[in-house]
Amino acid sequence: MTIAPERPLNGTLVEQFELGLDAPICLTWELTYACNLECAHCLSSSGRRDPRELTTEQCEAVIDELQRMQVFYVNIGGGEPTIRPDFWHLLQYAVDHQVGVKFSTNGVRLTPERAAFLASPACNGYVDVQISLDGATAEVNDYVRGPGSYDTALTALQNLQDAGFSDAKISVVCTRQNIGQLDEFKALADRFGATLRLTRLRPSGRGADVWDELHPLPEQQRELYDWLMAHGEGVLTGDSFFHLAAFGEALPGLNLCGAGRVVCLIDPIGDVYACPFAIHDNFLAGNLLGEGGFKKVWQESALFTELRSPQTGGACSSCTFFDACRGGCMAAKFFTGLPLDGPDPECVQGYGEAALAGERTVPAASQDHSKAAPTRNQPVMLTLSRRPDVLQAPTAPPTSACAESPLAGFVPPPN
Ligand code: SF4
Ligand code: SF4
Repeated sequence: MTIAPERPLNGTLVEQFELGLDAPICLTWELTYACNLECAHCLSSSGRRDPRELTTEQCEAVIDELQRMQVFYVNIGGGEPTIRPDFWHLLQYAVDHQVGVKFSTNGVRLTPERAAFLASPACNGYVDVQISLDGATAEVNDYVRGPGSYDTALTALQNLQDAGFSDAKISVVCTRQNIGQLDEFKALADRFGATLRLTRLRPSGRGADVWDELHPLPEQQRELYDWLMAHGEGVLTGDSFFHLAAFGEALPGLNLCGAGRVVCLIDPIGDVYACPFAIHDNFLAGNLLGEGGFKKVWQESALFTELRSPQTGGACSSCTFFDACRGGCMAAKFFTGLPLDGPDPECVQGYGEAALAGERTVPAASQDHSKAAPTRNQPVMLTLSRRPDVLQAPTAPPTSACAESPLAGFVPPPN
């Protein structure tokens, strides 16, 4: 049994957060795996509904528990959450129980009437809406999200603006195809009175299948970092680019992996994972339908206790930039078959590429909710081919040297 470490007196905020909190700061709840689209990079491989989905009553009980735990807000996603027939009821239920809701949608159900409801006093400022858009033009967006999805998203944004809903979010997953459109995304957000939110593409879910093709090139990571440094004020990032801190100055944010410490995910059947990008059996902490509910899983599960124990930093601890970068994203490392205590696959010092060039085993997905047949919107244009388990990539030299190579002594995991 792992014993939870003592919380240091007078520790910094990050030191406190690394040891976990009584309730998560950033809780994501995927209400359903059903989706009208089938985005090529979907982190949860969504498409089909899981027949074991929580019932309306079970969802209400979860909200009751979140209220008791004083969780201030929940990020609701999916799948496409508005597809659930009880979505609007659950939204209202959460608001009425002082649990704020930020929900992510492709916009398919955001009619003028729904937009008016969201802007009304009934939502009381407790609701935030994130419209997913992965291209500032239809050509770039629909390449990964499917034909028609750009128009759907812009119609939803227009409906929200017309209804007087203030400060919707345009949520962008940064890819090789859209990094060059950052100024256009900002202009789009300004046009709709919205806030731009940029997040990192992780190789999770179907994202693992297309990561090689979609993840930004090293020079694009620099471009993104420079853009955020110059124009990032007022742009949200979900603290997801802290690996870019190794370019120099850290970006605003906590700059730590919050998995199981301040972040977690509830999936549609009540399974609790360490992070929305780590939907895999290795990061499954428990199910909230068990005795003790979500609170017990969050506060007592062996996995979360382990994640909150002091971490050594492993190979990365010798890096000059470790204090800011912390070795990057656990999920990105796991789903590319890299050791969790080594460099991030997109390490901006180049050590990720060197690690990817070694022999590695990419873990098989634990679950897949993709549709068996093409969607009504037709399949996206990307080729969704699974990569072979063991990959070899060309060797690339580090862009600059850390004090000592974090790969020194790296032993590839056994096949
Ligand atoms: S695993 Fe990655 S995405 Fe998840 S909390 Fe950690 S850094 Fe963020
Ligand atoms: S070696 Fe590790 S700590 Fe250093 S920049 Fe790369 S990922 Fe970050």
